[in-house]
Amino acid sequence: MTTIEARRSAHQFDLGPARALVCRECGNEVPLAAEFACSECFGPLEVGYDFGKITRAEIEAGPRSIWRYRNLLPVPSDVQEHPNTDPGLTRLVKADRLAAALGVRELWVKDDTGNPTHSFKDRVVAVALAAARQLGFTVLACPSTGNLANAVAAAAARAGWESVVLIPSSLERAKVLTTAVYDGALIAVDGNYDDVNRLATELAADHEDWAFVNVNVRPYYAEGSKTLGYEVAEQLGWRLPQQIVVPVASGSQLTKVDKAFRELGELDLVEPTPYRVFGAQATGCSPVAAAFQAGIDVIQPVKPDTIARSLAIGAPADGPYVLDTVRRTNGSVEHVSDEEVVDAIRLLARTEGIFAETAGGVTVATAKKLIETGQLDPDAETVLLITGDGLKTLDAVEDKIGPRATVPPSSAAVREALGL
Ligand SMILES: *Cc1c(COP(=O)(O)O)cnc(C)c1O
Ligand SMILES: [Zn+2]
Repeated sequence: MTTIEARRSAHQFDLGPARALVCRECGNEVPLAAEFACSECFGPLEVGYDFGKITRAEIEAGPRSIWRYRNLLPVPSDVQEHPNTDPGLTRLVKADRLAAALGVRELWVKDDTGNPTHSFKDRVVAVALAAARQLGFTVLACPSTGNLANAVAAAAARAGWESVVLIPSSLERAKVLTTAVYDGALIAVDGNYDDVNRLATELAADHEDWAFVNVNVRPYYAEGSKTLGYEVAEQLGWRLPQQIVVPVASGSQLTKVDKAFRELGELDLVEPTPYRVFGAQATGCSPVAAAFQAGIDVIQPVKPDTIARSLAIGAPADGPYVLDTVRRTNGSVEHVSDEEVVDAIRLLARTEGIFAETAGGVTVATAKKLIETGQLDPDAETVLLITGDGLKTLDAVEDKIGPRATVPPSSAAVREALGL
């Protein structure tokens, strides 16, 4: 037995309400462990729970972070908190000016730029780290399209863990620097995300104390996305929205927001009212939208070519489950061009004062297209998930925006430039 096996077998995992890992394809159940594929059919494993009685009051009295939902997550009930740097409980903004511009009645923007490393990835990483600690890992690792790299490097630094982060060498400069600053092991790979992901799977097999958050501890990591759904419902006053638009990379987030809404209904925390889930992709990487629109179940992998690099996963692991979710909830998956993405980033900034990264542009542009094509009901209450910050993708807008004029230091010159 190796040391890590000994450590794991001696240890009673405390993963809170998590009961087992359940295969999404064949329903096979296995004990909680650092596994991600079903030994019977190779289907993806997902966390199954035995929830106790959970009340709104006890959630509301909890920490002002994702840990207020700890009894709904695969983490110990005494999960280690870092009060000022824990993710979650980001703003839900009533977006009246954007609503007017898009021609919808009631619109909300869930602004996840407010997380510690400015994207929703802090949520999934926090849950992965808490579970990985229970499972006996000592190094936090990931393959990343950018935001995950930031989140893993920062969370590891905060926890005093080592990190190993693999990124495509073509990544935005800002995302490279905002990972490197945390001083973990950052490796740029000459290849695209799908190459980097394959390397991570190989390395995870050889390094048994490395928790690749989105590979060997993916079932736990993925559950972190549920907190977006919980928060939206709580912030709406404990009810579900009628429509929600979610960006799709691997597709995990979209399926988990849906899982969160279903759990809240089953636990009597909200009225189980109907809702529709819509997926948003960039045209240059839209394999899920293509399958949805062709009416087929198989996702044909693509080679990504889009400015929305955080969504550029050409072979999305959860693509088939995205299709199931949008079909079951009477939603759809749409895609938008890079030009529409940039216009939408500017529209959101101009109307709501929120600067989103390209993934946010994809969500807003997709919402616009869904309205224009009659897929999204303009009279139904709608939530848009804005999952990352524009400061990390400045290159997407830098050719389109800038000062109106550059003038000498005189008030007359300023007035002239303003046409006064
Ligand atoms: C990773 C990411 C997503 C989508 O994540 P998946 O769960 O893989 O679909 C959305 N937005 C941003 C900004 C991301 O970094
Ligand atoms: Zn199976």
